[in-house]
Amino acid sequence: MAIQLECEKILKERGLRITKPRMSILEQFLSHPNALSHNDIEEKILDIDRITLYRTLKSFEEKGVIHKAIDGTDKPKYALCESSCSEHAHHHDSHLHFRCDDCNHTFCIEGVAIPAIPAPEGYHVKGTDIVLNGLCKNCS
Ligand SMILES: [Zn+2]
Ligand SMILES: [Zn+2]
Ligand SMILES: [Zn+2]
Repeated sequence: MAIQLECEKILKERGLRITKPRMSILEQFLSHPNALSHNDIEEKILDIDRITLYRTLKSFEEKGVIHKAIDGTDKPKYALCESSCSEHAHHHDSHLHFRCDDCNHTFCIEGVAIPAIPAPEGYHVKGTDIVLNGLCKNCS
């Protein structure tokens, strides 16, 4: 599917109006296999202002278009969601992230069962973020 059509489809499915900044930001996520930070996107879309970018990422996250790819760094990165994600409901149960030590890219790894990690008494686990690091398939 042409990338433009795919962007339109995702925006429509998630109840987001089609606007130029939304289209171009989403296009970046569709055309990169790795998670993207604010900076990464700013470098690729030169005519976007910070506030629009910030707001768009926020609404994408709320609508289940993208999720924060927790990678152990202090720079938030985002990656495309699975189609099962929707507004206020992200489903990433067997989903972890891999940070490459060489190219510094962060990737979503799907379909790997995450074992239940027992927490000590008195602690209530609400989520598990697992980050693997090493060499990605392009660098190894
Ligand atoms: Zn999600
Ligand atoms: Zn790499
Ligand atoms: Zn992910």
